[in-house]
Amino acid sequence: MEVRTRFAPSPTGFMHLGGLRTALYNYLFTKKMGGKFILRIEDTDQERFVEGATDVIYDTLKGCGINWDEGPDVGGNYGPYVQSERKNLYLPYAQQLVEKGAAYYCFCTKEELDERRAACEAKGEVFKYDKHCLNLSKEEVQQKLDAGIPYVIRMNCPTEGESAYDDLVFGHIAFPNDTLDDMILIKADGMPTYNFANVIDDHLMGITHVMRGMEYLSSTPKYNLLYNAFGWEIPQYIHLTTVMRDSQHKLSKRDGDAYYSDFIQKGYLKEALINYLALVGWNPGTDQEFFTMDELIEAFDVSRLNKSPGIFDMEKLTWMNAKYISELPFDTYLEMATPWLDKVLAGKGIDYRRLAELMQGRTEVFNRIPDMVSFLAELPDYSIDLHTHKKMKTDPVIAKENLELVLPILKGIDNWSEQNIHDIVMAAIAESGKKNGAVLWPLRIALSGLESTPGGAFEIAYLLGKDESIRRVEKGLEKLG
Ligand code: GLU
Repeated sequence: MEVRTRFAPSPTGFMHLGGLRTALYNYLFTKKMGGKFILRIEDTDQERFVEGATDVIYDTLKGCGINWDEGPDVGGNYGPYVQSERKNLYLPYAQQLVEKGAAYYCFCTKEELDERRAACEAKGEVFKYDKHCLNLSKEEVQQKLDAGIPYVIRMNCPTEGESAYDDLVFGHIAFPNDTLDDMILIKADGMPTYNFANVIDDHLMGITHVMRGMEYLSSTPKYNLLYNAFGWEIPQYIHLTTVMRDSQHKLSKRDGDAYYSDFIQKGYLKEALINYLALVGWNPGTDQEFFTMDELIEAFDVSRLNKSPGIFDMEKLTWMNAKYISELPFDTYLEMATPWLDKVLAGKGIDYRRLAELMQGRTEVFNRIPDMVSFLAELPDYSIDLHTHKKMKTDPVIAKENLELVLPILKGIDNWSEQNIHDIVMAAIAESGKKNGAVLWPLRIALSGLESTPGGAFEIAYLLGKDESIRRVEKGLEKLG
């Protein structure tokens, strides 16, 4: 049997990380099994059309290397792959169920339903549809249909016994049938509900394995009743736990950590994000943490999906991202870093190539670059206490003496190359008999106002240029009194 899976997003305009992980796991599983991965757009229940929303889905998946074998843009034998383009095929299936007694027409108005719901809630009960219209005779139904009275088609759930299935992650799942609501299959406008279209399409598209978020765990018995009513084979279910920020909180739109685009805008690499996401809810059973997509396919195994919620650890992702950034080809890094450098250094004439060489190994996330380099644009206000450094054998008094030594040396350098600055200053230090650290530490503090910088005194002096370097050393001496 060929494995056929699908990712079935509703086009909301955003790709939630949980959704992206669902797509990824579907893809990994399918490729591992040599099957076909299908992309289906579920847009029948859409309240409103979101411009560009399907492009967000296509671009995100493609950008991440999650490619589908069949789908709206690539076609396939089971199309169309956008539900709104299939809208007319669902009603006849619902009518078939009516014939079989597995569904029925319902003419209850919203007001009638609201009234019965209120009465039910007043008694402290949870309202579910009371099968009122199931009692209508065939003739009554026909009369109402002929009179053009608006209707929906509801599923006729059994009221006794239980519905159960075996999930590959959660094991045996059983629900008493009397808890099931006679959900609407066809709405008053003739369109299918999401729940109905989903089942029909999974069947018509030959889906063998349904892998999706666990929010569908409890609706699945109802879907199975539909499969049974049609006499169709039920797919294998694989429900995935929710991706959480911590044990209490979901990822949230408000905190800017829910959507793929949030992370890309911050300057996380998609390769790092995919690699990390694969590990949130699944483990390879080894210590390996870094995976290419091909390695993930090779290692993926449904039996290693977790039952407990996946915790999305931002620090771990950031650590992983730093590693991915450090391994980028240098020119790619430079190209990606440039817009971030521009945020604070545009027009300053700074040698980005040299700066990027110093920054690549220290960049955890691209959006941290501006803060790390802003000292080059403007000397931060710093305390002369920074001059006190035991290991470098310096303090404000020594710093003053040593900056006085180095200032005229810097002024005398004609060719302001990094090498030249290095050679001339080092020669002067050697001649003075002073310790390197006792001169270079104060010089770096004066040039940057920071204890920790990309590159040391020579690199910073070079990047700042001669005039600015001299200005900063003079300013440093002023501070030292
Ligand atoms: N359209 C559903 C969603 O976006 C998909 C549910 C499913 O995979 O069955 O959540």
